[in-house]
Amino acid sequence: MDMSSHQEEEEVVSHGLKENTCQVTCQMDDTVLMGVQQGQPAPPLLLGNLGSIQNIVLGQNTWLDDEVMDHSQALLRRQYPQVGGLYAVTSLTQLTSFSSPAQGFVQILNVFGNHWVTVSNIGCEEGTLNVYDSLGINNKHDFCSQVVSLLQYSGKTVWIGWPHVQQQQGWSDCGLFTIANSLTLCMGGDPGKLCYDQKQMRDHLFSCFVDGSLTPFPSCERTPLPEVHFCDVEVYCTCRRPYRIALELMVECGRCGEWFHDQCEDLQPDDLISMEEYMCCICRVTHMGKYGK
Ligand SMILES: [Zn+2]
Ligand SMILES: [Zn+2]
Repeated sequence: MDMSSHQEEEEVVSHGLKENTCQVTCQMDDTVLMGVQQGQPAPPLLLGNLGSIQNIVLGQNTWLDDEVMDHSQALLRRQYPQVGGLYAVTSLTQLTSFSSPAQGFVQILNVFGNHWVTVSNIGCEEGTLNVYDSLGINNKHDFCSQVVSLLQYSGKTVWIGWPHVQQQQGWSDCGLFTIANSLTLCMGGDPGKLCYDQKQMRDHLFSCFVDGSLTPFPSCERTPLPEVHFCDVEVYCTCRRPYRIALELMVECGRCGEWFHDQCEDLQPDDLISMEEYMCCICRVTHMGKYGK
């Protein structure tokens, strides 16, 4: 991956400038999950109950719903137990972290309630993840925040890449492309090298559901385009996500220099008024360990 050629890269996040101190006592329990919820495992398979989704899968111009996407993810989870992610899509409407983000993961994500994409770090360098989107590039700030929080990257900057993948015809088939690309990634393939036969995708998916196993969607090979659109996102705090301007405040720890969200550190607005030097929860624990106080 050539990070120097990101001509369209964009600074998604700017720094919060709030140098504040407070005397609140934080508990470690407060530090990780405030503002970020854990992903939930995909619900069990819809065994023997395909009638409820048949019309959705086979209906032309029908948008695939949560149930269809989670059934697909449950199949992938069973077929590819070594692949991480594959969490229930409904659990990912908020900022979410994975329990084991270090492993290669594949995750189907709903974008703004009406569009499906696949997010994965398979084949990526450390601190990078890819978005496979059959409707172009969506790098709105909220979307980037949500995607980045999946990775729980301990470094400073996460790179989000949008490899070139086949673009869908029409508006309703994003779920089919998302399932097809997720399967390709689980199998170790490159979605950018495939051109699916869109007309066959619904029939193929439903026959997979009947057989209880996802098999590759009918496709032909194509030459992948080398350039990848990237954007870089600075991540902070114990939650390893960006600063969302106007939605939250950040405070800098005088010890470690890291910035923390007010929610994650459980700070109230009054806490931010008086200041000398703020010490984050992590440094406070270290400090107490050293000095017994
Ligand atoms: Zn945070
Ligand atoms: Zn600190």
